Amino acid sequence: MLDPAVAVATAALMSLVLLVLLGSLLRSGMPGVREWFAANLGIVVALPLILMRGSIPEFLSVVIANLVMALSAVTYYAGCAQFLGRPARWPLLSASLAPLGIALIYWRYVVDSIPVRVLATTLFTAAVCLATAYLVVRYRPRGRSAYPYWVTAAMALLFALCQLARGVYFMTLNGVSNPVMFASTGSVILLVAATAIMPTLSMSAMMMVHNVLLADARDAANRDFLTGALSRKGFEAIARTRLEEADRHGLPVSLLIVDLDHFKSINDTFGHAGGDTVLREFVRVAHLQLRRSDALGRLGGEEFAVLLPATQPDDALRFAERLRQAVAAQPVTTVGGPCAYSISGGLAGWMPGETLDRLSARSDLALYDAKRAGRDRICVHQPGTHAAGKPSRDSAEPALAR
Ligand code: GH3
Ligand code: MG
Ligand code: MG
Repeated sequence: MLDPAVAVATAALMSLVLLVLLGSLLRSGMPGVREWFAANLGIVVALPLILMRGSIPEFLSVVIANLVMALSAVTYYAGCAQFLGRPARWPLLSASLAPLGIALIYWRYVVDSIPVRVLATTLFTAAVCLATAYLVVRYRPRGRSAYPYWVTAAMALLFALCQLARGVYFMTLNGVSNPVMFASTGSVILLVAATAIMPTLSMSAMMMVHNVLLADARDAANRDFLTGALSRKGFEAIARTRLEEADRHGLPVSLLIVDLDHFKSINDTFGHAGGDTVLREFVRVAHLQLRRSDALGRLGGEEFAVLLPATQPDDALRFAERLRQAVAAQPVTTVGGPCAYSISGGLAGWMPGETLDRLSARSDLALYDAKRAGRDRICVHQPGTHAAGKPSRDSAEPALAR
């Protein structure tokens, strides 16, 4: 015969460990972590109350302990909702505890029935588990690894089934007066499953957190902090992949390199902070013009690259002209006052077999032409018009080829 107290004590210990682990994630400030921490705290408080049954008033060990566990369950759900950017719905969640509280009091003090009390708590927990499974599947972030979300949902679903089985099993014991029946192997196995819910779901919550932290770290390496455009590293990685795809499918690709004109004097006139605002605003305006498949990267300073897959140079030129005109039409409000600025661009169409470095060297030559011709314009590189390896406008400036 297994001792249910061992299962309960083990679960309390596991929740304590999870409490400590989630505590270490509190400073991440990630939505939901605080609620998950509180949910485990509730379990760490409630399980000892259950273990002390017989030595403390039954109101504490039956009614309060089960209500605190139910509160922990809804707090866990609220954590998932917050983590996924959904409203926690606290009024609804708190109100759901009232019928459970009434049921526990009724079936302890009016009619004393352990099976019905177990049924009430298992139905409640099963409902919270099902709601959690639905929530994480329905609102999991797209474009990220789905694994931790499916694991959380699968666990929650499995626990919901175990809880329903436990409730039904206890109802079959209705009328049994021998308390030893409640400690049968089947009963203890279902109890172990029930007490493992919070530690297991907390572990999968931590998987979801780590997934986001990992994606954020990757994003930080591939994004330019100031403007939100791709970093040079991120841009090059995407651009090389796109060129390989174009090679495989025989599709055109165009590369536009953009340089903000007279940016040094923008800094001199509007201050460095004003210059930063112009850079951010340029990226915002450029993103408005881009398609999903296009990639915008900051090569360095005030120089940017736009890779346009499945785009012939003629269409790319129309895009670049639209961007140039949009920039010219919208002076930027900076701390130093409104700043009108212009851009110059160099465009080149990819030639099959050409490397990214060669393609960007040709775009850079066209940019050189645009600067020489007076700025605020886009020039297209015509193959054969520049000597190969001709030095570009300023060897201190970053282009992908250098
Ligand atoms: P051109 O029209 O020939 O491109 O002239 P320019 O003044 O734009 O080019 P130049 O290369 O002479 O100056 C670029 C300036 O960009 C110099 C540098 O201080 C400034 N700069 C580089 N990175 C940043 C940045 O992150 N923020 C700000 N505010 N300025 C930057
Ligand atoms: Mg410039
Ligand atoms: Mg420059």
